[in-house]
Amino acid sequence: MDGSVSPTRRTRTRSTCCYCGVGCGVLIDVEHVDAERVGSEHVGSEHATAGSRIVGVEGDPEHPANHGRLCTKGRMLAETARSMQGRVLAPELRALRHEPRRRVDWAVALDTVADRLVDIVHQHGPDAVAFYLSGQLLTEDYYVFNKLAKGLLGTNNVDTNSRLCMSSAVAGYKLALGADGPPTCYEDLELAKTVLFAGSNMAYAHPVLLRRLEDARRQDSNIRWIVVDPRRTDTAAMADLHLAIQPGTDVALFNGMLHHLIWEDLIDRDFVTRHTSGFDELKSLLRDYTPRMAAELCGIDVADLIQAAEWFGRSPATLSLYCMGLNQSAHGTDKNLALIHLHLATGQIGKPGAGPFSLTGQPNAMGGREVGGMATMLAAHREIESAEDRADVERLWGLPAHTLSPKPGLPAVALFEALRSGKVKAVWIACTNPVHSLPDIGHVREALQRAELVIVQEAFHNTDTVPYADVLLPATTWGEKEGTVTNSERRISRVRAAVSAPGQAKPDWWIGNEVARRLEARLGPSGVAPLFAFDAPAAIFDEHRRLTVGRDLDIGGLDYARLDADGPQQWPFPANADHGQARRYTDGIFATADGRARFHATPYRPVAEATSAHYPLRLLTGRLRDQWHGMSRTGRVPGLFAHSARPELRMHPQDAARRGLVNGELVRVIGRRGQVVLPLQLSDEAGSGTVFAAMHWSGQFLSSGGINELTQSAVDARSQQPELKHAAVRVEKAEFGWHLLAARRGDVLALQAAVQPLLKARGFAEISFATEPGAANDVAWLTLRAACTEAPPSDWLDALTQAMTLLSGADAVEYRDAQRGLLKRVIWRGGAGESHLDGLLLTDTQPLNGEVLLERALSGRPWHGSRLAVFAQSGEGTPRDALVCNCMQIGESAIRAQVAQGAGVQELQRRLGCGTVCGSCLPQLAQLCRQPQRA
Ligand code: SF4
Repeated sequence: MDGSVSPTRRTRTRSTCCYCGVGCGVLIDVEHVDAERVGSEHVGSEHATAGSRIVGVEGDPEHPANHGRLCTKGRMLAETARSMQGRVLAPELRALRHEPRRRVDWAVALDTVADRLVDIVHQHGPDAVAFYLSGQLLTEDYYVFNKLAKGLLGTNNVDTNSRLCMSSAVAGYKLALGADGPPTCYEDLELAKTVLFAGSNMAYAHPVLLRRLEDARRQDSNIRWIVVDPRRTDTAAMADLHLAIQPGTDVALFNGMLHHLIWEDLIDRDFVTRHTSGFDELKSLLRDYTPRMAAELCGIDVADLIQAAEWFGRSPATLSLYCMGLNQSAHGTDKNLALIHLHLATGQIGKPGAGPFSLTGQPNAMGGREVGGMATMLAAHREIESAEDRADVERLWGLPAHTLSPKPGLPAVALFEALRSGKVKAVWIACTNPVHSLPDIGHVREALQRAELVIVQEAFHNTDTVPYADVLLPATTWGEKEGTVTNSERRISRVRAAVSAPGQAKPDWWIGNEVARRLEARLGPSGVAPLFAFDAPAAIFDEHRRLTVGRDLDIGGLDYARLDADGPQQWPFPANADHGQARRYTDGIFATADGRARFHATPYRPVAEATSAHYPLRLLTGRLRDQWHGMSRTGRVPGLFAHSARPELRMHPQDAARRGLVNGELVRVIGRRGQVVLPLQLSDEAGSGTVFAAMHWSGQFLSSGGINELTQSAVDARSQQPELKHAAVRVEKAEFGWHLLAARRGDVLALQAAVQPLLKARGFAEISFATEPGAANDVAWLTLRAACTEAPPSDWLDALTQAMTLLSGADAVEYRDAQRGLLKRVIWRGGAGESHLDGLLLTDTQPLNGEVLLERALSGRPWHGSRLAVFAQSGEGTPRDALVCNCMQIGESAIRAQVAQGAGVQELQRRLGCGTVCGSCLPQLAQLCRQPQRA
């Protein structure tokens, strides 16, 4: 900790946000209280014994990524850390798959892991073991696991969920520029004059960077924004030009734009001649990509394509920002290359405000790449297949020659397929949830069921992967661990512990290190000295930096002392440097053997899964504004459900009308690999023929495992990144004979833990959280909606009422109609004069119209008069007023009322205060101001 104890027993610790790749600096406020006081406030919490708790998080004004700003998710970080409910607090083991796990001490857990891994290696060889890591691990964690697998066990089967996120960007950079890593920096956001967003809803995925772009555009109204996205996202709605292309046609678009640039002689011939190769081959391919042909493939107006090309080519500085829309594709590398070609051909690279800038989804996808923590890489951007690179690493690790395997390991999708086929016997999963995040999760579940050994290292019990763990190892999480992360602009920041670890949780690096020591003892020494003598993250960082010396990412000049003294730094930062390098390739010399960037003739190829008569719709997946990945952290905070309260399938009204579907009803989304049931939301954000669902909702909130029941395992041949963004589906009305709506006020995490096991048997079930206006932060509601073909057995309903404490009794009003299978129950709190709804349970054989009663409950308004009149509250549902500004708690209706009186964004900020704190709602405010007002 770098904070000092104040007289009021508060400390402040400087650290980094744990969510997206922006890498915002945060200041964590911790209150230290004596154990007795904590114990009385947090009965049953093992964290109470630590005597300290995180009470607030603010943006760090000194961090160069965010200058004090945070988005909604970052601002709510303290809330995620508040409860120990659902934390893994001790190691757990089971000998047989069907047995429950039992708690054991660390020595037993570590010895068991080491013994079982050694057995498997002796029986089946090192490639029978695999590691599946996470872009949320710190660089030091990654380093230890990478060394353990490659240097000690002798397998390159170390892959990570970054494979799902950035591997196409890596492949694109390496093929075109010769090395991984963006050539740009965040300052370029302020210096760009044309900004091309491609497959990036930055308003949701990298909101603090969008604030920087907005600031720049306010200063200079000539700045142009072009957004390429099949959906009219909040980012697209702010663009000067939105190219709503057909899904997967990005290469055709970029090729068509480059054709126009060549035709109009808007390319930088001198740059192309002196600094690139392969242009003529590409040029001859591009002859076919006339703007008209490309626009037709993309389904856009040719004039818009030409406008985009003109703005791109004539701008003094063009910056492209891209993300999952390009990467999560079976042709993601092609998409990256085609975009980079535009920059190389126009010389829009290596100068202020210009360049291709991939935005990393996770906080440390970059750090993982730096230490070579993937199946196809070695440390410090070295290649597994290069004998010279392997010899380098062997020398630096003190290993005998030819120790490292020359065989690339299994990338994520292939790794789980090998587990399913029995080729890989054991998998160690750390800090990630593949049963939610990988495509085709039905196959992932099968893989884990068939594995001989599944080790899961996690901070939270409530992920869809934990039930498969034979060994569950308790890991620390944000606020409790030390190390470093690298953000999207190659900037390394310190992550610091603000509170001590709860229960027996340990840092990820420590767990890997302890198992490695045991493995080394059992397998015999691998090197001249013990490989795992690390005693702290700083020692790991020191070894990592030694491996980078002389490489493109040389950080020989950095250590913890420097980072602590001077703050976050960009790489490269060699020894004797005063500062890191903001921009790369400023001299036009690229990281290829001949110093020239390379063009690659890249034809357009369609998405991997075509639509058909059976599956006529294109399913796109993406993010919500206030949730992050599988919601194991953001899903703990009721306030983060306010913007998007429920899972839904968004469909164009014409497509819905054609199928006789209406807003709000349950629909079945059916694909070639599975199906999910979701409520329908009519939306014209995408064109007819395309539907959208958010990626976040998992089996913790749904009776299905979420949208990856439907996505496919097709991967990009070069990057091995799967096409998570697109699948072909059909949508049908989902008809059920029994429906339930229940809600309960209380500790939502405890309620969720009790209710969640009951969801699975239902045809549709959904949990969500809601806050009560004006109530304390920890007073919230859990709502449950469920439906199945026929009424469930009475013991299921009994178990549910027990779990949600919705039992009949003195404080309940109940109405039953056994003949119609109808039950209504409301639970009260408070006296008869002024009472409040504390919970409700409604069942019916028809879809329920209980929204009015639910809204009444969630509103927290007191109930006056006869309690028996409560059921008169049900009837036709009214839509909930969506919360637009989370920070100031301003709903859509209040904003619309002001807009109807002519208010613009600034007026809304002044009158209502919305959009004045984190700014995450600013794109939506702008959109509401532009929309025609409802009558
Ligand atoms: Fe965290 Fe939001 Fe910053 Fe991303 S933009 S690092 S989620 S605060």
